[in-house]
Amino acid sequence: MSRFTLPRDVYHGMGCLEELKNLKGKKAILVVGGGSMRRQGFLDKAVDYLKDAGMEVELFEGVEPDPSVETVMKGAEAMRKFQPDWIVAMGGGSPIDAAKAMWAFYEYPDTTFEALCIPFNFPELRQKAKFCAIPSTSGTATEVTAFSVITNYETGVKYPLADFNITPDVAIVDPELVMGLPIKQVAYTGMDALTHAIEAYVSTLNCPFTDPLALQAIEMVLDYLPASYKCDKVAREQMHYAQCLAGMAFSNALLGIVHSMAHKTGAAFSTGHIPHGCANAIYLPYVIKYNAKDPIAAKRYAEIARRMGLAGISEKALINSLCEKIDEFNVKLNIPKTLKEFGINEDEFKEKIDKIAELAVGDACTGSNPRTIDPETMKKLFECTYYGTEVDF
Ligand code: FE
Repeated sequence: MSRFTLPRDVYHGMGCLEELKNLKGKKAILVVGGGSMRRQGFLDKAVDYLKDAGMEVELFEGVEPDPSVETVMKGAEAMRKFQPDWIVAMGGGSPIDAAKAMWAFYEYPDTTFEALCIPFNFPELRQKAKFCAIPSTSGTATEVTAFSVITNYETGVKYPLADFNITPDVAIVDPELVMGLPIKQVAYTGMDALTHAIEAYVSTLNCPFTDPLALQAIEMVLDYLPASYKCDKVAREQMHYAQCLAGMAFSNALLGIVHSMAHKTGAAFSTGHIPHGCANAIYLPYVIKYNAKDPIAAKRYAEIARRMGLAGISEKALINSLCEKIDEFNVKLNIPKTLKEFGINEDEFKEKIDKIAELAVGDACTGSNPRTIDPETMKKLFECTYYGTEVDF
């Protein structure tokens, strides 16, 4: 049996934040991040709309990037005191991810991260509150997904949470919130969305319910990302929807090794963090070449290329066109082609890559990748992404 789960309501369109007025409830806790929503006036607007809905409102502010266990526990505690029947999370991926975990600890104070970490093993939520998510970035799509990542800074362990219980009830996808995004973020998160859609389309869990969402998302990213990067308003709006569609696809079809590789290299090197979307953008064409040795995956990559009107008749030519298109996008978006170009030190890369390759193979996203991979091959693949060499294995 397979399951396909999405929020019950997805509001979209300029100014649809106003839909908060129509939530039915008594008390809402509004969870936000570091202050950008307040500075831009969206926090006050959201509070006013919730009050218009007749609700008492409490704020939980200051969720940090890569939210911590402590923040989650503090938020759950605030919820237990206030007893909201709506949890409204607004901001980038972090406040929404954090609020999802707070929700679980609000309803089940005795649960543990170790228990919640077991995939699709959550207790039944919605005993006390429903969940509304409002994204202010265009990429993670956490407003429609069954996922959240929480970091234990004491041990350095990341807890990836995955369960349809934490798929929000309502998503408010208002492009007004992303009009002011810095262009670097537009580029990285846009390529993250493209990676979500492509990985979902070739995932071993792809299905007729996720395929159309993935294809539509890919088409929209190809149509709109370059113009969104140049701050075209219409394109920026369409990208906000495209990333959401990609999220609907990958929340149900899961991802692949581009994400495994990005997860394990993001914070691995002393030269600095590799932003998630940037890492995905670098790895994507190499992984397509690796996965395309699998005949089923090859067929699906070729289908993507054909549907996007890319050049080529043979599968091989179509897949090459798809990789060229991604390369072309990376150039346009000022994303490097290799880890070396990104600035990762060669000695450090050589020193750490065995361990990183092993960890990447063990990542939760590896299981749904269309072609299997062992640590030794993963290392070879990483070397290709470092030096820009051909993937011929
Ligand atoms: Fe991602």
